[in-house]
Amino acid sequence: MAVIGLGLIGGSLARAARQSGLVGAVVAADRSDDELALGVELGVIDGHGSVAEVVAGADLVVVAVPVRATRDVLAAIQPHLSPEAVLTDVGSTKGSFVAAVHEIFGGWSPRIIPGHPIAGSEKNGVSAAREDLFSDHKVILTPPADAAPDALDRLTRLWQGCGATVLTMDVARHDEVLAATSHLPHLIAFSLVDTLAGEDQNMEIFRYAAGGFRDFTRIAASDPVMWHDIFLSNRDAVLRVIDHFNEDLAQLRQAIEDQDGAALLRVFSRARAARNHFSKMLSGQAYVTDMSQKPVRFRLQPGGSVNGDIRVPGDKSISHRSIMLGALADGITEVDGFLEGEDSLATLQAFRDMGVTIEGPDHGHVRIHGVGMNGLEAPRGPLYLGNSGTAMRLFTGLLAAQPFDSELTGDASLSRRPMDRVAEPLRAMGAVIDTAEGGRPPLKIRGGQKLAGIHYDMPVASAQVKSCLLLAGLYADGMTSVHEPAPTRDHTERMLEGFGYHVHRDAATSSVVGGGNLSAGHIDVPADISSAAFFLVAASIAGDSDLTLRHVGMNPTRTGVLNILKLMGADITVSNEREIGGEPVADLRVRSATLRGIDIPEDQVPLAIDEFPVLFIAAACAEGRTVLRGAEELRVKESDRIQVMADGLKAVGVATTVTPDGIIIDGGQTIVGGQVDSHGDHRIAMSFAVASLRASGEILVNDCANVATSFPGFEALARETGIRIDAEEGR
Ligand code: NAP
Repeated sequence: MAVIGLGLIGGSLARAARQSGLVGAVVAADRSDDELALGVELGVIDGHGSVAEVVAGADLVVVAVPVRATRDVLAAIQPHLSPEAVLTDVGSTKGSFVAAVHEIFGGWSPRIIPGHPIAGSEKNGVSAAREDLFSDHKVILTPPADAAPDALDRLTRLWQGCGATVLTMDVARHDEVLAATSHLPHLIAFSLVDTLAGEDQNMEIFRYAAGGFRDFTRIAASDPVMWHDIFLSNRDAVLRVIDHFNEDLAQLRQAIEDQDGAALLRVFSRARAARNHFSKMLSGQAYVTDMSQKPVRFRLQPGGSVNGDIRVPGDKSISHRSIMLGALADGITEVDGFLEGEDSLATLQAFRDMGVTIEGPDHGHVRIHGVGMNGLEAPRGPLYLGNSGTAMRLFTGLLAAQPFDSELTGDASLSRRPMDRVAEPLRAMGAVIDTAEGGRPPLKIRGGQKLAGIHYDMPVASAQVKSCLLLAGLYADGMTSVHEPAPTRDHTERMLEGFGYHVHRDAATSSVVGGGNLSAGHIDVPADISSAAFFLVAASIAGDSDLTLRHVGMNPTRTGVLNILKLMGADITVSNEREIGGEPVADLRVRSATLRGIDIPEDQVPLAIDEFPVLFIAAACAEGRTVLRGAEELRVKESDRIQVMADGLKAVGVATTVTPDGIIIDGGQTIVGGQVDSHGDHRIAMSFAVASLRASGEILVNDCANVATSFPGFEALARETGIRIDAEEGR
């Protein structure tokens, strides 16, 4: 490998490449003999020579000089480059390198592959070179369409061997993206420091400058010569982004002059949300992981009764859909009781990226300024959906019908999930969707397609697939209908009705006719019956209990837990039944009861699938035997819920028999207490909190951090009603 320009980047690549064992020898040329001698002394390179000497024997030539020196260096390389050698560079702008190659080589060669490592520092020179500089960083290659596959492969493997992740992009896109993400911020930092340094009170300003100023202006310490090169060689892209920034800055200035607090708040809250979103995106983690970094353990003292009048957090599926339909509606949609879960936050950000103004969430309140069915704007980049499979499947349907192209990405785990089950029927409607291998994300959706309604028989019952097709159907010509082989949640259909869009429902088929509109409204998100379930069981099994749960969602596809508890003899009264945004809602009053074991009817299993962990606790406290069958799906939830519950019950003194598709629990055994591992499954953790009401000794539940995502405030609410719970840090 020959490196021309042995500075920070060239030297770091030399070090990392030697360390990787992927290159035989590294030689360098530089206009400074001192740097070359230092390179040998520091063990960065094996030898050095003139450009002609080092290039002549090289399989790979890397140009690592400042961008403005590239043309001259290429002229020196060209006569000596072997036809088999691969030529690359590390320059921060790519258009200028491509232009210089054309000029010097009189055309392009498939063995020239431009590159740019997104890693660096404010230091320069070989003495600053580090072998881990590229580790866990990205390298962008901008190969020509006819790039030689072996050349691209070798270069990719070299960068990967240096610890980097390799991305490819076209040249123009690279320069646009870098102008926005790197060049503009550097320009602003240089300019800001320069402005302040010119103020009369500059010493005072710098003396009192807080940490934020130091962090923000760190990059103004970068090499002036290198940056002057970059701006001159990426002129057009940089000018575009400066103009854009100027306009936005002028608007902020105007808002301050006009005392327009609402405008300032809108921009700042949008920016803050975007910043949080980007950090998660960059760390490649979903919201869930980020919120639950600290290990949490529940410590529960035995006994107690459950009393009070409470409202549990909002339903996740409904919160999520309220954002989608609110964004597409005409007018302002106000949402209360919004659950800030993974799906809804990812969706919220994606709509902001498509130009929708969304205020909040603020204590469960969100205000969505709907843009109408055809008002979405093309996002500037890919839409990142974190860990949310629901968001990705629903968006695919919605975006397939938009006039602009879009791309959907997610975190590592979402990127492994198959999306063919939505892409295929959408293609049958006329959508153009490219997926990665195996039908996996990222999904590239071509805009401007005319969709036609179809009838689709879902091979597997899925509320996500159904919702996706109905959303696409809103934009399709004629009628789109979806038949489900078994009942699935119908929140999308109900909420469409709530927004004034008719959904025709006939037995197992739902249909929409395209071309209608959605009208904004107020949605008071019903309390999640899956969260209410913990308290329904708690007040049933604990003596002297009388608890009222307000505004609980009573969607018939979700009320299995109520039906099962009633069959077991629970004392639950339903009152104040009403409809909110198409969803039935009611207040529930639960009092202590002597529960009895039952054979759980199999038709109730899909309607209560998330509630079984806490129903197992009810069964353990009942008289007689409870048998669950036909619940294989429980084994593939956040954990193998049957096995993890059986292990947990055993740990607190209750024996059970696990069967391939269910469990047998003999009630009336004493819950003696002990230590339970929830395996990070929030529902398991909360179920054992409920079990403490009938225990004779203390229960410790490990790994409870995820509870905060599905049920924010669980611990406080549980304590308020009488469960003797404390959350502490630690495993
Ligand atoms: P650097 O530390 O200053 O190294 C550049 C080296 O090239 C210096 O040793 C310089 O010698 C030498 N050089 C300059 N003109 C030459 C010529 N005509 N012939 C032979 N050698 C010449 O700079 P760097 O930070 O490594 O940057 C190198 C390239 O990497 C630039 O294109 C830059 O855009 C790109 N890059 C930099 C960063 C970063 O953060 N620094 C990140 C990504 C990409 P002198 O010292 O005598 O001038």
